[in-house]
Amino acid sequence: SCITDRTNLFSRHPFPAQKVAPHLSSSNITSPLKALSLHGHLSFDIVHYASHDFGNRYHSVPLAILHPLSVLDISSTIKYVFDMGTSTKLTIAARGHGHSLQGQAQAHQGIVIAMESLKGPKMQVHTGKLPYIDASGGELWINILHESLRYGLTPKSWTDYLHLTVGGTLSNAGISGQAFLYGPQINNVYQLEVVTGTGEVVICSENQSADLFYAVLGGLGQFGIITQARIALEPAPRMVKWVRVLYSEFSTFTKDQEYLIASDTSFDYIEGFVIINRTGLLNNWRSSFNPKDPIQANQFISDGRTLFCLEMAKYFNPDESNIIDEQVEELLSALGYIPSTLFISEVSYRDFLDRVHVSEMKLREKGLWEVPHPWLNLLVPKSRIDDFAKEVFGNILIDTSSGPILMYPVNQSKWNNRTSMVTPEEDIFYLVAFLFSAMPSSTGKDSLEHMLAQNKRILDFCEMSHLGVKQYLPHYSTREEWRAHFGPKWEAFVQRKVTYDPLATLAPGQRIFPKAM
Ligand code: FAD
Repeated sequence: SCITDRTNLFSRHPFPAQKVAPHLSSSNITSPLKALSLHGHLSFDIVHYASHDFGNRYHSVPLAILHPLSVLDISSTIKYVFDMGTSTKLTIAARGHGHSLQGQAQAHQGIVIAMESLKGPKMQVHTGKLPYIDASGGELWINILHESLRYGLTPKSWTDYLHLTVGGTLSNAGISGQAFLYGPQINNVYQLEVVTGTGEVVICSENQSADLFYAVLGGLGQFGIITQARIALEPAPRMVKWVRVLYSEFSTFTKDQEYLIASDTSFDYIEGFVIINRTGLLNNWRSSFNPKDPIQANQFISDGRTLFCLEMAKYFNPDESNIIDEQVEELLSALGYIPSTLFISEVSYRDFLDRVHVSEMKLREKGLWEVPHPWLNLLVPKSRIDDFAKEVFGNILIDTSSGPILMYPVNQSKWNNRTSMVTPEEDIFYLVAFLFSAMPSSTGKDSLEHMLAQNKRILDFCEMSHLGVKQYLPHYSTREEWRAHFGPKWEAFVQRKVTYDPLATLAPGQRIFPKAM
């Protein structure tokens, strides 16, 4: 049998430096692959693009790219590789929209599955008491939004940016300003169709093959390829009141954020960001914001100081315009922001959700989208957020001119802890996201080296001070680090790997389990 035993997976070394396996590109691999009967096709020539991702730091060139037109294409390819057993190093990575940061969707000299080619079956909205949409794992969230809005419906939980795929975000978590209310995207899925590491196609849900269902959600692509997802919907609002206010006191800022997320009837979206020593406060690359009074808005500069911006949104329909103003006013009256710093904007629901895309287009025009992105996403327990902020915002970071720092709390109670996703063990924890862009030719503080050193200082501080921080979109290079990341969930994670991907063929770019040889 090809099944590796459990001890083997445990004891094998974490990833050594990736080497080219000389036999991989030889015809004894490619010929049988070319002979596979597929609805789509395998490409061996145009493969370089799959060695790029948004992070733009890791570049592993695959042997081939599968452009699947059916689930069967994915299943046959995986089965073929599985049946070769331990005689090949060939690995397989699903690639969503390639928006990973450290090569997570890459497969060195392996097969990359271009998930966006898998268009079928067509997206389908089901109306009724518990509405949902069935979508391909390679579908972009922006398309899901457009399709559901045609029925007056919408998914409940989002990411800030919608040009990401269903399979990509469900393999992580999918966190945005709605997570305090609905939990992350992985908590808003009814059913999945998954192709496991043995090539088996399985429909799974809370009631059917539940172990695989929860394994795959937040599972970093380790247990199977998500080929379809059934995503929960609710009635969609038409408009959004989008509010930003500023704080100079960190404690008041977090007190207000925590106050707001404690209620199910406050805002529909709550985020925040940290501004250190920079001008142009209200606009950053994530969103173009049009305050009602731009002159007043421009008077706020944070030269020499740190400010905190609380960002909220209230959904409404045009006929509720008056009531909504009153509701927003009442909610704001309980907050302690600097009174002259209230900025309110009104946009369509669609524009609100797709807000980051506007900035993407602007950055693309300037050639600033495809620069290296040494992003760092952390989940920080509420009990240590003050210690974290004091050191990181007060000491390690000098300014935030290289990109935004998001910071907002979420409720642990809204997260289903049966998924593979790991969070701090506290009722409330903060997502703190350092979303910096590095300038390729720079040697100064906007250089990649400087930012990576800064990230390391932040991580070292978290570890030395035992803050109980977890990485979101985690990246590690040793088995011990992965074990520590998963903590009490590690044994179950390994066991699930043995069960669903026994040869460790899938998602090698996560660098958790080396392929069985
Ligand atoms: P990829 O990067 O292609 O893949 C990610 C991982 O999932 C890889 O390991 C891959 O092998 C695996 N994978 C991909 N598809 C499948 C599949 N169908 N089945 C199984 N495994 C699969 N995240 C948030 O939570 N909230 C945000 O607000 C947010 N904003 C972002 C904004 C930008 C501009 C960017 C670049 C990223 C953002 N992210 C956010 C992170 C994003 O969710 C992850 O980077 C995600 O992995 C990207 O999705 P993708 O579809 O490009 O997946």
